[in-house]
Amino acid sequence: MFVSGPSSGFHVPAAGALRVRPIPHEATASYLNRLAHAYQSTTADLLDALGITTTRAHTAGGGTATAELHLDAEARQRLATLARTRPGDLSRALPNLARDPAAPPRSPEGGIMPHETSDPGAVATAAWQPRESGEQPVRACPACTLRHTRGATDRAHVHPPPHQALCPRHHHWSLDDDTSLTTAALPELHQAQRHHQRLTRHPGAAPALSWAGAITTRWYDQQTHLATRWQRRLHHLADTNPHATPATMSWALYARELVTYPETITLARTLATTHLPKQPRQGPAPQAHPAITAFLRHTAHQLHLERLAPPPGDLLWTWIHHTRTS
Ligand SMILES: [Zn+2]
Repeated sequence: MFVSGPSSGFHVPAAGALRVRPIPHEATASYLNRLAHAYQSTTADLLDALGITTTRAHTAGGGTATAELHLDAEARQRLATLARTRPGDLSRALPNLARDPAAPPRSPEGGIMPHETSDPGAVATAAWQPRESGEQPVRACPACTLRHTRGATDRAHVHPPPHQALCPRHHHWSLDDDTSLTTAALPELHQAQRHHQRLTRHPGAAPALSWAGAITTRWYDQQTHLATRWQRRLHHLADTNPHATPATMSWALYARELVTYPETITLARTLATTHLPKQPRQGPAPQAHPAITAFLRHTAHQLHLERLAPPPGDLLWTWIHHTRTS
């Protein structure tokens, strides 16, 4: 059976003739764009041909990275049928597909409850939603995308989990929606990502990563403790990515997360596995406690520093105080 849009004149088979596999963690708009491209069409015409009404237009500009496409249950069903993929499998591959207030009940496996047929008379809608800058997808590794799409394109947008930002095979770091950033000159990032992946299995990983990220960001901005190492890493990165000159900010700000990543992960591992004694109501000043001295010595060793003597206002002291009193 073929279906066609009321206005575009574009025809697609209801159960798609083409198989377009989603890339893991792909943005829905990115997948729709690739699917439409496979049919030599546009996302708007593809939705039209599926009888999906777009209730809110794409006004953000900038393509699939600046806005996400939200589909209701009926629209998701029609998309799954066209993609020749079970709805649950599709929602697992596209993390935003089922993130809709009107999402249907979840199956025990976590996917959308599959229903085999869609109702041709039912209303199916799609709506574009502008993405905030912190929520925008990033560019997937171009080489992996090219292989995944069998040469069709090297461009797709994804929402990788934080411990999968780096493609270890092609040294691509997914930092923003446009840039292909090579980290070949910084092998320590690969090792850090392996440690990060192991750390995610630790029950204290989430708060430790949050604290460590805040602490290294503060250290980076204040150019303290690890400034020389981070400057060297920043120069390596800029020198090996001359094509990636950031337009709206300095390299130092643009690459901050990436430059501090190895130490963030090392610090997070240390924080997650440190147990400091609780703070007595009356006792020695925090800096003098032997457990804290040992902790600072151990942390310095882990960070390959000769010593770590944070001043009183350092965010690491805030963590120590928080840990001992919470
Ligand atoms: Zn890759």
